[in-house]
Amino acid sequence: MTTLYAGGWIVTCDAAGTEHPSGWVLVDEGVVTAVGDSEEPHADERVELADAVVTPGLVNTHHHLCQTLTRARAQQADLFTWLQELYPVWAGIDAEAEYAAARTGLAELALSGCTTVFDHHYVFPRGREGLIEAEVQAARELGVRIVASRGSMDLGVSDGGLPPDELVEDLDTVLAETERLAGELHEAGAGARVQLAVAPCSPFSVTRRLMQESATLARALGLPLHTHLAETREEEAYCMELYGCTPVEYLADLGWLGPDVWCAHCVHLDAHEIVDFGSSKTGVAHCPTSNLRLGAGVAPVRQLVDAGARVGLGVDGSASNERSDLLFEVKMALLVARGRGGPAAMTAREALRLGTRGGAALLGRDDIGSLEPGKQADLAIWRTDVLELGGAEDPVAGLVLTAPHHVDRLVVGGEDVVRGGTLVRADEAEIARDQRAQARRFAVT
Ligand SMILES: [Zn+2]
Repeated sequence: MTTLYAGGWIVTCDAAGTEHPSGWVLVDEGVVTAVGDSEEPHADERVELADAVVTPGLVNTHHHLCQTLTRARAQQADLFTWLQELYPVWAGIDAEAEYAAARTGLAELALSGCTTVFDHHYVFPRGREGLIEAEVQAARELGVRIVASRGSMDLGVSDGGLPPDELVEDLDTVLAETERLAGELHEAGAGARVQLAVAPCSPFSVTRRLMQESATLARALGLPLHTHLAETREEEAYCMELYGCTPVEYLADLGWLGPDVWCAHCVHLDAHEIVDFGSSKTGVAHCPTSNLRLGAGVAPVRQLVDAGARVGLGVDGSASNERSDLLFEVKMALLVARGRGGPAAMTAREALRLGTRGGAALLGRDDIGSLEPGKQADLAIWRTDVLELGGAEDPVAGLVLTAPHHVDRLVVGGEDVVRGGTLVRADEAEIARDQRAQARRFAVT
């Protein structure tokens, strides 16, 4: 079964940045087989794009789906204060709540054009099972790809860490659970719908030994590594006091810089550390909205990209964003880059590349992130006849600069996930109702 999506502005996000202002994409069995603007090839089915913009499906590289249950809390707090207020609330998470939260965040992301979602889950209250399985189930039902993670915390407050002791686990449990989930869930190779990453939470909530053993296990299993890093000045001070070095120096000492690692935030890097990230091909999940919401600062993304580091985008958790809208994050990346470096610091197309090709590179995926022969047919189709895009002669720049927008059609591996701006496999109103019911369980009053 072949499908031709024709009559739209195709943004391939290939290495050369090729675009076809009046082009087509040919898909066969869920895989892109040709992209062009010459005579249309024959296909079993022809989808008329009516001047829509077609981009690769966006790739989210940092999130905490469970946080959709706890939005708009600790509203004026810095990161550590915010975490200390929320840890005890998150301690109530169970599989039922995780499922409702994941469906909400994944649905929001899908409607914002996102086809692949990384989730960093690190809260595992004792005796609560099936949390990762619940979010994987939600992703499968909605039809998006998920890279889940077995996150972890083992450095509680009585040992000098930030999280309460009741929320930390022992190292052996973490490693055994990671190995179990990898065996049960992780799909290797092109077109994978479910994958697993190894993701100890942060320098202030994980012991040195767990950081090291996580890396050893991930490398033995061939899984990517992820953590939070250099998010705030307070974290830097914490690392200096506890480890006698900066967060990046600590990471380097652990053997964590490398092409199989990506870190969320990286707001506070000095010039040498930016060079180290570039030369080691370490990745950065840039989360501008969350960084602004918590007053953490703005990551040096222009410098990181120029240094050769891999950079993608993340909406981060919904307790610090509070949206899960990845196209909006593309626009935010552009805005904060310009706020930091002036109007030439980032173009609309560069921002879009971070949210597509850049994200795929962080996750170690060469089958998604661009529209080229052999890639997965993950397409985000954006109408251009909407109110907000009127007058935008360059619809690609218009799409980014006037974001957010709901995607009109979202295709994952050739299958519709969103059509006509509506979820195909789930009912948005039902998801919202279930979410509200679960969120009430986490109300403080
Ligand atoms: Zn985070």
